[in-house]
Amino acid sequence: MQPNPKGIVCASPGYAPALPGALSLRRSYIMLFSSRSDMFEAIEAILPETVLLRRELHRHPEIRFQERWTANRIAAELSRAGIVVKRGYCGGTGLVGETGGDSAHIIALRADMDGLEIQEETGVDYASEIPKRMHACGHDGHMAMLCGAAGILARRAEALDCTVRFIFQPAEELGMGGRTMVEEGVLDNVEAAFCLHGWPSIALGRVGLKSGVAMAAADWFHITIRGRGCHGADPGSGVNPIVVAAQVVTGLQTLADTASELDGPAVISVGHIHGGEAKNIIPETTVIAGSLRTLSSETRDRARDAIEHTATNIADNFGATVSTVFDERAYMPLYNDPAMCDRARRAINAGIAEETVLEMDAPSMASEDFAYYLQRVPGAILWLGTQWTDGDTPPLHSPRYDFNDDALAVGMGAWLSLVQGFSRQWRL
Ligand SMILES: [Zn+2]
Ligand SMILES: [Zn+2]
Repeated sequence: MQPNPKGIVCASPGYAPALPGALSLRRSYIMLFSSRSDMFEAIEAILPETVLLRRELHRHPEIRFQERWTANRIAAELSRAGIVVKRGYCGGTGLVGETGGDSAHIIALRADMDGLEIQEETGVDYASEIPKRMHACGHDGHMAMLCGAAGILARRAEALDCTVRFIFQPAEELGMGGRTMVEEGVLDNVEAAFCLHGWPSIALGRVGLKSGVAMAAADWFHITIRGRGCHGADPGSGVNPIVVAAQVVTGLQTLADTASELDGPAVISVGHIHGGEAKNIIPETTVIAGSLRTLSSETRDRARDAIEHTATNIADNFGATVSTVFDERAYMPLYNDPAMCDRARRAINAGIAEETVLEMDAPSMASEDFAYYLQRVPGAILWLGTQWTDGDTPPLHSPRYDFNDDALAVGMGAWLSLVQGFSRQWRL
């Protein structure tokens, strides 16, 4: 994928969005962007360096709480734009920058920083240089877009009538860095918080938005099956926990396929299984681990009970014992504030092009620790279309996933439109 030198597709390049209300006509102030084309030109001017930054970040993925190189690189980028950076959040690798004037009104924009434990198979010339580490969730793109938007906003800070807080958060994947950052005060005095996540099922150029519950809660379960170890030649003298585990996995799959009986959508996925070390030994234990995704606490409680009962009943039939444990560090459902969705929709459609925002009719069953931000302050997660224009787009967390550089300009446009829209609203 080559960077798109034109960036955003602009329906009406010379069109200046109408000022919101008669009052604004009587007041003179500096506009952040005088027109759509003014904003697009600002984006086009930095797009090549944003693409390079994205690819540089892609080459250096770091997993949760280890984002030291990444934090240094982002801090350098923000400092270069004249933004004062506070570091040391979330165990050391989180950082926050601010630009703008009127601190009575603060809008927070968040990008996540971590990669995944995946061996990259994209074949691109800027592929990960670190074995079994990969930016397979597009957080490299998120950081590059927020750095790009931050640089533009810092250069036009005198036109801002609010403060924009840029939050770079580690450990979104399994680490719940978002909860820690919120506990450490990154949302103090913030009126609204937003994040952008690349979304490969949404067309390039569009921004998906789901009002209300938009993403699922996630629970992580560990099922330990204890049988009775023995010689592989004489399985009747023991209880093979691997055989029991195979039945439990099938039982959980049946449960997942009939999840409608849980009175709400639920996804149950086994992602890990381990039992035994040698071909001729029946082991004592086998461990199954996986995730449960739900959209309501009622469904969540029912599904947790059902998983435990399924495993226990099957193990009983074999004469094995089982212990089912759910991690305490569960992700909560993510709630997009409807009024904030409305404001974001108007701002982005006015800033980029009418009907840029795509109304999503169903929540995603994926989870996000941005939910913790939205529990504290109103705001929304926005899904940025990163679909390839040719061929099948690999899904998130695939070893073939690569953030689409053609989406960088649209993402920066969404950030800038959001700030412009909110800045105006506060001024009025
Ligand atoms: Zn992810
Ligand atoms: Zn992600």
